[in-house]
Amino acid sequence: MQLEKLITDFKAYLDRIITLSQISSILSFDSETIAPDGSLQARAKRAGFLEVEMYNLQTSDTMNDFLDALKPHLPTLDKQMQATYRLAKKSYDEGTKIPKEKVQAYAELTEESTAVWAKARKENDFKAFVPYLKRVIAMKREFLDLRADEIPAGGQPYDVFLNDFEEGMTIKKYDDFFEKLKAVVVPLIKQVAASKKKIETDFLKAKVDVADQRKISDMVSDKIGYDINRGYIGEAAHPFCNNSGKTDVRITTRYREFDFMSSLYSILHECGHAIYEQNIGDDIAETALGGGTSSGIHESQSRFYENVIGRSLAYWEYIAGDLKALLPKEFANYTPQQFFEAANESKPSLIRVEADELTYGLHVIIRYEIEKMIFAGEVEVDDLPMLWNKKYQEYLGVTPPSDEDGVMQDIHWSLGLFGYFPTYALGSAYAAQLLYYMGKEMDVDALIRKGEFATITKWLEEKIHIHGSTYTPNELMEVSFGEQLDGNYYAKYLKDKFTALYQL
Ligand code: ZN
Repeated sequence: MQLEKLITDFKAYLDRIITLSQISSILSFDSETIAPDGSLQARAKRAGFLEVEMYNLQTSDTMNDFLDALKPHLPTLDKQMQATYRLAKKSYDEGTKIPKEKVQAYAELTEESTAVWAKARKENDFKAFVPYLKRVIAMKREFLDLRADEIPAGGQPYDVFLNDFEEGMTIKKYDDFFEKLKAVVVPLIKQVAASKKKIETDFLKAKVDVADQRKISDMVSDKIGYDINRGYIGEAAHPFCNNSGKTDVRITTRYREFDFMSSLYSILHECGHAIYEQNIGDDIAETALGGGTSSGIHESQSRFYENVIGRSLAYWEYIAGDLKALLPKEFANYTPQQFFEAANESKPSLIRVEADELTYGLHVIIRYEIEKMIFAGEVEVDDLPMLWNKKYQEYLGVTPPSDEDGVMQDIHWSLGLFGYFPTYALGSAYAAQLLYYMGKEMDVDALIRKGEFATITKWLEEKIHIHGSTYTPNELMEVSFGEQLDGNYYAKYLKDKFTALYQL
């Protein structure tokens, strides 16, 4: 009886944090979409207020008391309660290990360094960014010292950051994963570059009015299974998915008049994130477990809808007719095969966010290898452009003409987000692994060709969505498939797809 009351009180306490985070999420959607520029300061104040309130609840003595009282009961608690405890303990530990003044100083530093990065990038002046990047790295090292107890046995400090963004991932696991990928993809890219196959892409540059692109967004998102009754499609410079519980999952896209595919694939990508959130089990919705479990697993859902479904020939066989009916003047003469090929053209490039499915992983590997070297003390900040360019030449056969399109292209390092990049590759890798297991139970291409996405989503719902954050990524893969992440599926998926496409 006493335990029951303890659990009820604990859940009620957590509910305050969850509600605050949902409010904060709605405000951030507002900020990213329609809020007036003039309200910037007022919005920052509100966001900061909520941030502090949540932090205080997560790290309070009350929280500590709950965690202490629950600890002896852990072995007898059910799976969901154990997971709830684990997540609360994690954020308590994270919040209390680093003194508040340091957190504050770090927030100020990264804000400043991000502004400096933006300017330095525009002016192609890496030297101006150097002192700030050095300070950010120095502070990250200080944090690592305070979190030394989190370094896994036989591991390195950088492991702590990897675990922050994808629980259970380590240098050892990533090394194994990326080596498998590199071994297949690096030679494959060279073969593709040497292939005689010509892919026509010019027709994708046809002008498509924003009004028509909105119709495409509505059609594509509706057909794929995004529930607009619990959603909304907005516009933002950088598309994202924003959730405040499973009944309010909003997405955004951006429309470019001469590149309608950009929005089409953004929509499919964000729908993948959104469908995950909309399908969280009712028993855990609106609780601490009521969101996707990790960046990597989340990204696996977005990449599944965007790439596995959206960039397949079967999908174009399904959707090309509708697109041609909507825009006959622009597209009537093109076949599903032509759309499919154009949507998958692969070329080594400089910019990660614009990379195709085949080359994308290498952009991530380069950043991962460099970060690993930074935190192992194997490279100085001043030498990063040289190292960056050398790796781009080695893996992708291209050299950035400037640091703006090279080492300074991503915002992450200025924000201190080390250990985050590798999760971008996990999404595609998990998606390929899921496709393999799905394919054992159903003819995935046939379902896509007929537009029967509900059958596909139902399968993903049972294996992934319904569990929310009950399991860590590794546990979830074990529970649903009996194995953890394995890079071989992704390597094989890319090899099969691009060997066929380029007739190698
Ligand atoms: Zn995403």
